[in-house]
Formats: sequence, C-alpha cells, structure tokens
Amino acid sequence: MSTHVSLSQLDRYAAGDPALDEPSVWAIEVHLEECADCRARLAGSTTGDSRAVIERVAAGLAREIAASPAPDTRTRPWSVLRHRWLVGTLAPWLAMTAAVIACAALLSGLRTGLPSLVLLIAPLAPLPGVAVAWHRRADPAWEVVAATPAAGLITLLRRTAVVLAFVIPGLALVGAGTGVSLALILLPCLAFTVATLLLGTLVGVRRAAIGLILTWTIVVVAPSLATARMPVLLEPESATVWALATAVLTVGAILRVNGFRRLSHHD
Ligand SMILES: [Zn+2]
Repeated sequence: MSTHVSLSQLDRYAAGDPALDEPSVWAIEVHLEECADCRARLAGSTTGDSRAVIERVAAGLAREIAASPAPDTRTRPWSVLRHRWLVGTLAPWLAMTAAVIACAALLSGLRTGLPSLVLLIAPLAPLPGVAVAWHRRADPAWEVVAATPAAGLITLLRRTAVVLAFVIPGLALVGAGTGVSLALILLPCLAFTVATLLLGTLVGVRRAAIGLILTWTIVVVAPSLATARMPVLLEPESATVWALATAVLTVGAILRVNGFRRLSHHD
C-alpha cells in the first residue's frame, strides 16, 4: 500500500486548486516535508508556464538584489510574534466576541427570568475567532505563511491558542460577575474549540465552526430562550460530562494531528 501523495493531488496542489480542502493541503505539506520522492514529483508537476514565470521572477529579483543596498539584518521580535501568532483580521473578530460576551452579561443582569445568556453562548465564543484564525481569504499574509511546509496546521494551533488566551479570561471575568458556574462556562468553551479543530481536520475549520455554531444555536440556545428554561446540558450536574467530553475530544484531536505526521512514514 502506497501512502505517497497521488499525482492528481500533486497536480492540484501545484496549481493551487481552491477545491483542495485544508486537511488535504496539510497532509500533502507534511508529507512533502519528509519525502524527497514526492518533492521531485511536485517539481515535475509544474507546468511550462509556471516555470517561465518562476524564471522571470528570479531574474527580476536577482537584478533588484544587485541594485539595492544591503538588507537590515536586525531581527524584530514583535514582527515575528505578530505574524506567527496573530493575524490582523483576527482583531475585529476578537473585538466582536468581547462585545457579544459583554452584551450577554448585561442582558443576563437585566432579565433575571431568562436562563443565563453567558452560559448559553460561552461554548460558541471562541469559534468565530478560530474560524478566521486560519482561512486563506481572511489572512493577507496567507501566501507568505503558506510558503512554509505544514505552516497551516501549526499556524492554526498557535492562533487558536491566541483566541483562547483572549476569550477564556473574558468569559471568566464575566462569569465571576454574573455568578454562574465557571466550570460550566469554560469546559463547554474548551470542548467546542477542540471539537472544531477535530472536525476541521475532516471538513475544514470554517465549515466545522459554522456547523457547530448552527447546531448549538438550533438545538440548545433557541429552545432554552423560547421556554425560558436552562437546558439539562448546562445544569451544574453536567460539568463532569463536559470535563469528560473535553478530555476525549482533546485526545482525539491530538491523535488526528499526529495522523497528519504519521502519513509521512511510508516505508
Ligand atoms: Zn512520498
């Protein structure tokens, strides 16, 4: 059984086929990183046209490098941090998330008859941020990042960590203010984030996030607002179930991410 990247997939990867989903791109990149055979076949997959473009760009670059002064070699830690861990387009999403959490807290404070909105939306809070954390169209630096093998997966994990580092203290702060159980805010929030990553390795992160947001809204948020009753899922007794679910999902996600790496051992 061969686990090399198929020629048709290499062709699509070389052509930048937008229909090639994120999980396939990650698997191909992780494999290419360690397989000289497939790298050689990838080089063969480029068309005459693209080779001509590369030669033209290389000649142009060589001319410009010869004509320009020596580059500044000082490293800028902040710019490395900004490009590896953050993305400019993440900021408005994080601001929106903060605004939604704050509104939920305010509304819960005003209307005591309703189930806590903070509890209801906590699982979804990190998902919009995670969805844009690694998305080609949302990231102006995408082409630069994508030039590094396997950058997609690692960048996604790093940026998810950034989103959580922002969302968790926000939820904790609001939760402490409204007196709802911290475990019931944070455990579902973590479980949904990990579930997005896990599902994302199958169907793409954006689709996973949108699917989970819609499911939770339709199955849990809408009915509990309509009946003004807290769902069983968010009763204090459910905290253990959430803890268990988070642990199981985390193990699943780790195995899945390692799965992308194992694909490369094909001898
Ligand atoms: Zn190979």
